[in-house]
Amino acid sequence: MNAVLHVCRACDGLITDPADGVIVAYEEAMSGPGWQVWAHREHVDDVELLDPDLLRIMTRIWTAQAAAE
Ligand SMILES: [Zn+2]
Repeated sequence: MNAVLHVCRACDGLITDPADGVIVAYEEAMSGPGWQVWAHREHVDDVELLDPDLLRIMTRIWTAQAAAE
């Protein structure tokens, strides 16, 4: 039996019933193995997956736009 509890990415709630959770993504860690991103089955559509690289680029664009105004 796997006793590891997963946290829902959408609502930050614990997924206590394995049958109620689904893996929505797999994130690479800076060092060591990555980890799985879980969400409640009914919350999958609410999960926002932001690519760190994309977020960094967008932040740079937003900063540039703010400076130009
Ligand atoms: Zn949830």
